[in-house]
Amino acid sequence: MVADVATTRPRRARLAAPAAHGRSPKDAGHLAVRAALLAGGVAVAALWWLGTIPGSVSDLGDQVTAVGRITGLLGAYLVLVQVLLMARLPWFEAAVGLDRLAAWHRGLGTNVVILLSAHVLLTVEGYSLTGHHATLSEGWTVLTTYPDMLKATVGLALFLLVGFTSATWARRRLRYEAWYLVHLGSYLAIALAFFHQTSTGADFVGGDPRHVAARGLWTGMYLVVAVAVFCWRIVLPARGWLRHAMLVDQVVPEADGVVSVWVRGRRLDELGGRAGQFLLWRFITPGHVWTAHPYSLSAVPTPHRLRLTVKNAGDHSGAVAHLRTGVPILAEGPFGHFTAAAAQQQKVLLIAGGSGIGPIRALAEELSGPRLPRGGQRRGADVLVLYRASREADLALADELDALAAEGRIRVRYLVGRRLDLGFDPLGRGALSRLVPDVGQRDVFVCGPAEMNASVRDTLLQLRVPRRRIHVEEFSLA
Ligand SMILES: Cc1cc2nc3c(=O)[nH]c(=O)nc-3n(C[C@H](O)[C@H](O)[C@H](O)COP(=O)(O)OP(=O)(O)OC[C@H]3O[C@@H](n4cnc5c(N)ncnc54)[C@H](O)[C@@H]3O)c2cc1C
Repeated sequence: MVADVATTRPRRARLAAPAAHGRSPKDAGHLAVRAALLAGGVAVAALWWLGTIPGSVSDLGDQVTAVGRITGLLGAYLVLVQVLLMARLPWFEAAVGLDRLAAWHRGLGTNVVILLSAHVLLTVEGYSLTGHHATLSEGWTVLTTYPDMLKATVGLALFLLVGFTSATWARRRLRYEAWYLVHLGSYLAIALAFFHQTSTGADFVGGDPRHVAARGLWTGMYLVVAVAVFCWRIVLPARGWLRHAMLVDQVVPEADGVVSVWVRGRRLDELGGRAGQFLLWRFITPGHVWTAHPYSLSAVPTPHRLRLTVKNAGDHSGAVAHLRTGVPILAEGPFGHFTAAAAQQQKVLLIAGGSGIGPIRALAEELSGPRLPRGGQRRGADVLVLYRASREADLALADELDALAAEGRIRVRYLVGRRLDLGFDPLGRGALSRLVPDVGQRDVFVCGPAEMNASVRDTLLQLRVPRRRIHVEEFSLA
């Protein structure tokens, strides 16, 4: 069945300022961050070039060693970039978004493993060619006689383990918590590998001013990254904990396997959270304390209350239903660009599926609200919500959507039923164009299971909704 529960006409919408077409500020942000990171890579290669004494790479052994060095330097640089991408730097988050930063971080992983492995193999092979020794015995000499080389080897082993456990097939088999614990080992790996770089690297040792400068620059880079991680991943959340004193206020059942957690605290408006954004929530109680999970805001934040709505998808999300009132919360964020600020049109279509209803419900409230939002002008928009579920028992927050519809702020349609039983896809091309004849004039926000997101995105493109007006929130940071 396709239940059309409420189809209230929206109030006449105020017109928002038309958005600039062409490149969005977010695209410019991506480009700026990419350009800065690329410039860093070029600087690393230039330093190596300038630090290489002319005529010192004449024979094959020297040439192989030189390639080994540059792969090591680039590998080390990319490791620092990876850490920086996940250091929660507010500028990176504003320009790129945590989800995409996480994707970049992951994408660089394979390159790091290849570069660091090549560094070891090529450097040892280069030394053995120059010294006319067997490769294995040269490797043993390097390991046992060069300063800090044992530490670096343990560091490399840790990097390889992190890379191995992050491969898609391994991730599927590993519990998230186990993978995360191994992943934390990369901080130790960086610390262990750092020393061999400055104590044995041919571009760093000795009093040559170029080498002194290289030592200073690299030490500076490591320090900047360490300070960034310490400030934004440790100090800031701890400060937020003291300042906002967030606690679980109430846990409310919403649907089969879905609960809302009301969070109370002080000065929560200072967090600057907006409908559609998410935070990384760490509940300070047994079973939760070791991991922080991302959940979106499912109501517009107020100075004293926030709300998240969680569907039981595994250990952590299932245990959220059993949280007790008063459990302290350590939260990082808010993060994300899935907000009303992304809307370019006054007409908006919101499409939810599964736990995607949380951010969609919050967006419906903010977009249809009577007042101007902080830093935006999208309120009072013409908002249509499509909420897809297999069974009525799966519909969460429907009462609240109905209440918004009854006030004339939104229209909502519940698309309930399995595709097999319905005989068609209620979010397919035909159904969508019938339900939303003006879809091409709308901004469309989509949040649901990955498969639904992908097929709705394709359908919207077929219906000629411009790509820049399709905003999809994936519930995955990989
Ligand atoms: C940006 C974002 C917003 C989200 N908002 C909501 C929401 O509002 N409501 C909701 O119900 N769900 C939301 N999720 C999904 C939710 O985070 C996962 O369902 C939950 O973390 C699963 O953990 P688990 O231990 O219950 O299940 P598991 O079986 O342990 O994990 C299931 C999958 O969830 C992912 N995952 C698990 N733990 C984490 C973690 N700590 N960080 C990142 N990913 C993890 C992994 O890909 C894993 O394969 C959101 C996810 C993201 C990325």
